[in-house]
Amino acid sequence: MNITAITLAEAVGLLQNQEITSVELTEAVLDRITAVEPFIQAYLTLDRDGALRQAEQADRARQNGVAGPVCGIPLAVKDTFCTTSMPTTCGSKMLENFTAPYDATVVTRLKQAGAVLLGKLTMDEFAMGSTNENCAFKVPHNPWKLDCITGGSSGGSAAAVAADECFASLGSDTGGSIRQPASLCGVVGMKPTYGRVSRYGVVAFASSLDQVGPITKDVRDCAVLMNVISGHDPLDSTSMNEPVPDYTDTLADGLQGLTIGIPREYFRSELLDPDVERTVRQGVALLKEAGAEVIEVSLPHTEYCVAAFYLIAPAEASSNLARFDGVRYGYRDRDAESLLEMYTRSRSKGFGDEVKRRILIGTHALSAGYYDAYYRKASQVRTLIREDFSKIFARCDLIASPVTPTPAWKLGGKANDPLALYLSDILTISANLAGIPAMSVPCGFSSKGLPIGLQLQASHFNEAALLKAAFNLEQRAGVTGKKPVIV
Ligand code: GLN
Repeated sequence: MNITAITLAEAVGLLQNQEITSVELTEAVLDRITAVEPFIQAYLTLDRDGALRQAEQADRARQNGVAGPVCGIPLAVKDTFCTTSMPTTCGSKMLENFTAPYDATVVTRLKQAGAVLLGKLTMDEFAMGSTNENCAFKVPHNPWKLDCITGGSSGGSAAAVAADECFASLGSDTGGSIRQPASLCGVVGMKPTYGRVSRYGVVAFASSLDQVGPITKDVRDCAVLMNVISGHDPLDSTSMNEPVPDYTDTLADGLQGLTIGIPREYFRSELLDPDVERTVRQGVALLKEAGAEVIEVSLPHTEYCVAAFYLIAPAEASSNLARFDGVRYGYRDRDAESLLEMYTRSRSKGFGDEVKRRILIGTHALSAGYYDAYYRKASQVRTLIREDFSKIFARCDLIASPVTPTPAWKLGGKANDPLALYLSDILTISANLAGIPAMSVPCGFSSKGLPIGLQLQASHFNEAALLKAAFNLEQRAGVTGKKPVIV
């Protein structure tokens, strides 16, 4: 048996039955990383010694009968999560040598649950991108086809899970950055409800849209990690004090009585690659087979979501990224002769092109004279999009659709066309604008053998329904356990 190919829940089972130790498990994953990482390029930092030390501690804790839910399991996180034991670069030269003085709350929760933290995964700079090609350090390769993109911005987090370089990972999703790479790499990814998971210690991109979530090998593992990371955090004033159910409890329930809406705007044939449309429609048929009622619905403001998102997200980013001034964090240009010159040169050299583009758009959209025309209008459109969803969720429990209009494309294919990249986010960004939970679950493959995910969206705090439907689909789609051949 290839031990690194099993799921997180299966690995927990082996540890519980004392069929393996965490040190053995961690060594196996480190060997796997040595073998495939030259092809995948998912890790920005790998902490081999630290991981083995944590594994020894986990083995001792388990012997002493104090094992948390993921005790001894090797995991990794996107490089946007602050960690005291390793640098946090956020994929940017700006933070190249930055090590945080505290852990993000989700990192603390993983540690308290006994996880072994292997390292930090590559990402688009400050989470801005859809291919991970905007990273200042490392562009990952899709495990299913090495000359293709992984998607982004959590490309490293999706690729590492798909390539069995960790049992699961955490990503962040501002407009699709968990779901889109999960879909393109054939793994499960969930963006929880805004406020479900703490954002404390996560480098901010667009604070009203950002949310943390798991990327996993299957749906059960997603539920296990949601149990670990969800819940109120006094350190994040936007985290909600809502009870957290045990998400594994209702996974295997049938879908009888569940209504799933199919938004016609998400299935426009001029939008979708035929392989994506065919595969997702087959997935919807499987949900029906599992007992769900499927009805057609409409989200009439879908066509405005890209425009609204690409004003609101850059506006918030321009404000959030003002803190990178060469004084308090990260990169400083040492040759500048005045304070103003130091700001300008540090930011000019520290940020990459896409980040600068966002700062310029966002600053413009917020400036006096343009605020009403751009930012205020975008906020009004956001309200209309949120209302579209409220109307649907009065009639439906879930919405099913594709995650992305196409499967993964060639590295470099759209790198010089930011507008084409922005448009490819059309199916994922509404969930962030509305604050609702959404996930991607693998449902098939394109004719070229690239994975295709199905997106499920639910009303606020209804992650349990998402997981239940995703689990039922996974049982029927027969794609779990299929692995890319890398070496
Ligand atoms: N692709 C979108 C962007 O570039 C969303 C990224 C994200 O979710 N972090 O802004």
